Amino acid sequence: MAMFPVPDIDIDLSHHRILVTNDDGIHSEGIDILEEAARRLSDDVWVVAPEFEQSGAGHSLTLSEPLRYRQYGDNHYAVRGTPTDCVVVAMSHVLADHRPTLLLSGVNRGSNLGEDVTYSGTVAAAMEGTLLGIPSIAFSQVFAPPQDGEMIIDWTSARTAVEPMVRWLMSFKWDADALMNVNFPDHRMGAIEGVDVTIQGRRDLSDILLEERMDTRGQPYYWIGYRRGLEEPKSKTDLKAVRERTISVTPLHLDLTHSETRKAMIESLEGPASGE
Ligand code: MN
Repeated sequence: MAMFPVPDIDIDLSHHRILVTNDDGIHSEGIDILEEAARRLSDDVWVVAPEFEQSGAGHSLTLSEPLRYRQYGDNHYAVRGTPTDCVVVAMSHVLADHRPTLLLSGVNRGSNLGEDVTYSGTVAAAMEGTLLGIPSIAFSQVFAPPQDGEMIIDWTSARTAVEPMVRWLMSFKWDADALMNVNFPDHRMGAIEGVDVTIQGRRDLSDILLEERMDTRGQPYYWIGYRRGLEEPKSKTDLKAVRERTISVTPLHLDLTHSETRKAMIESLEGPASGE
């Protein structure tokens, strides 16, 4: 698998107005790391993020309730809504007179690999930025499952590599339809080996489980959890890269058309000879 050193590109991004958001909420540790990195790149940094955790919110919009936000000090706004709401509030309202030119989302507490991207609010915020026409990058910090019930998240990889990753990604022009999905490997497995440009992988098993519990009044309630299995991830995938202590960056796009299937369907209607 191709692996490259983490690039160190000398590029001036100080003219950018950077919008920082996430799905873990404005008080999470990962967004502080992302904001610190953004402030090393530009003085014009704005944080518009969910007031409460929105992990798993995907690309949802709040449509059936009023949307409210509060300002916290300079340049910080907490939105009672989803990550997508935050991007909309920032671009269409708070910063409408001078829109951000770069969107950074994260750093998510946990991976956004393979099928995760379809649930992820972190990635969805970057999708929204892309739809609104600005380069958008989602960042996630992988961590190992809890050992002996103890949950340890080591943010070292994110802390050291967000800034060079932004500089490298912004050093070339990418298609306006694409967004970047960056995952940092778990530092506790060892130092970062490099960076790899990957494809979206898929786990062997990704079952959503519904666990039933009882409240104090004998009424059942439920927690969604998941059971995941992965033997050896396929080569070139995001799942494989982080396992090999490599930063994974996958360019994603919003065109969900499955072209092969579409072709087969057209052939079925027209007959294979006539083509398109
Ligand atoms: Mn999250």
